[in-house]
Amino acid sequence: MTTATDQAFEEFLAAHADERLESYKELVRIPSISALPEHVPDCRRAAEWIAADLERIGIEHVEVAETGGHPVVYGDWLHAAGAPTVLVYCHYDVQPVDPLELWTSPPFEPVVVGGRILGRGVADDKGQLHLHLRATEALLATRGRLPVNLRFVFEGDEESNSVNLEAWLRANRDRLAADFAVISDTGFFEGNIPAITIALRGMMYAQIDVTGTAVDLHSGGYGGAVDNPANALARIIAGLKDEDGRILVPGFYDDVVELTADERRMIGELPFDEDDYLARLGLPALHGEAGYSTLERRGTRPTLDVNGLWSGFQGEGSKTIIPANAHAKVSCRLVSNQDPDRIFGAFRDHVLAIAPPGVRVDVRLLGGGRPSHTPIHHPATQAAARALEATFGRAPVYIREGGSIPVCATFEEALDLPVVLLGFDPPDNGAHAPNEWMDLTNYETGIRTIARMWDEVAEVGIAGLAG
Ligand SMILES: [Zn+2]
Repeated sequence: MTTATDQAFEEFLAAHADERLESYKELVRIPSISALPEHVPDCRRAAEWIAADLERIGIEHVEVAETGGHPVVYGDWLHAAGAPTVLVYCHYDVQPVDPLELWTSPPFEPVVVGGRILGRGVADDKGQLHLHLRATEALLATRGRLPVNLRFVFEGDEESNSVNLEAWLRANRDRLAADFAVISDTGFFEGNIPAITIALRGMMYAQIDVTGTAVDLHSGGYGGAVDNPANALARIIAGLKDEDGRILVPGFYDDVVELTADERRMIGELPFDEDDYLARLGLPALHGEAGYSTLERRGTRPTLDVNGLWSGFQGEGSKTIIPANAHAKVSCRLVSNQDPDRIFGAFRDHVLAIAPPGVRVDVRLLGGGRPSHTPIHHPATQAAARALEATFGRAPVYIREGGSIPVCATFEEALDLPVVLLGFDPPDNGAHAPNEWMDLTNYETGIRTIARMWDEVAEVGIAGLAG
């Protein structure tokens, strides 16, 4: 990047600062909640908004592509002959907004307060999608070209388990050829330190249904004679984990790749204040698997958690029944190389093995995704690290995120692409919760990081990326 083009790029961004913020707000105002049927037209409106923006800035082959669910927005720019091709992924759908009363301003009326923009999706993931658009726009406007070839894939089902994306990716495999993928849907480390996420956990999501009689029974007339589905479910759940946080499903840990001494040292060196973390959570103590630090447990160990539990009488006052049934939703966050289908099989077998004989127990798989891992030393990861350091003024830390982005493993497996997780969300940004916010400095600097990243990638070249 020469000084002259740097300057033109900065001048362009300065001249369009107000317009940029307005456009960011416009995208956030579209309530594209993928999980709620009443927002189906809003998801399509968000997709069409993005498609129009891509066309306006000079991206070609723009398409609002049908998937069977919410559409994928595709577009490309492929005129950097001999340069690498990068597939850029973000998602335009957002999480539901309840509990609404906890928001300090309406979720779809974004406001700027003290260097932060507030609203549903400002961080996860519309802010990141928008900063990619603005980096591309500024490069094309000031240079007339991009340093690399880009393919954009913007999804509308991410917050609903990406149920339709894999089939679309596989069907379009030929036209999605690239040297690697960049997913911008992650964030910085505690203290707003630039970070590259090198691993994501996968997921196995199941439901346990315990059934007794056809209808609720009188607890006086039948209590003592029959098992109670709610009590039975509680005994099953108690048999899933021991007091040290160790999961009791036989074979559960068989495929877990243990951390090397080097990896444990790197995690131990991350600037993490456990007392402060605990204070912010407002809990009396942290809890997790014995033998591992909090950061290790959060990013590198598998989990098993009850996500929902219901049975019997839930109203005011009392009602003396033996409930007819009881239910639990249970999910496991998985790490390399655990396979969601295999984990479900082991989980189901264990639940059925410990199920009491007086009730019927059914275990169903609701969804899953594989864990993923990108090596720190991959040339694309290192290009991202240089771009972050050049624009944010400090080298990034490498983190393992506890969350899951199902599409990440799909890119690796369906398209055979290495993935770089380069995201700009500040930590504790309220994603999926009330008062989601984005640091506008992260957003603005992120535009420069992306532009710098493409220059770095062009310099590495196709042969360099292949290692
Ligand atoms: Zn997201």
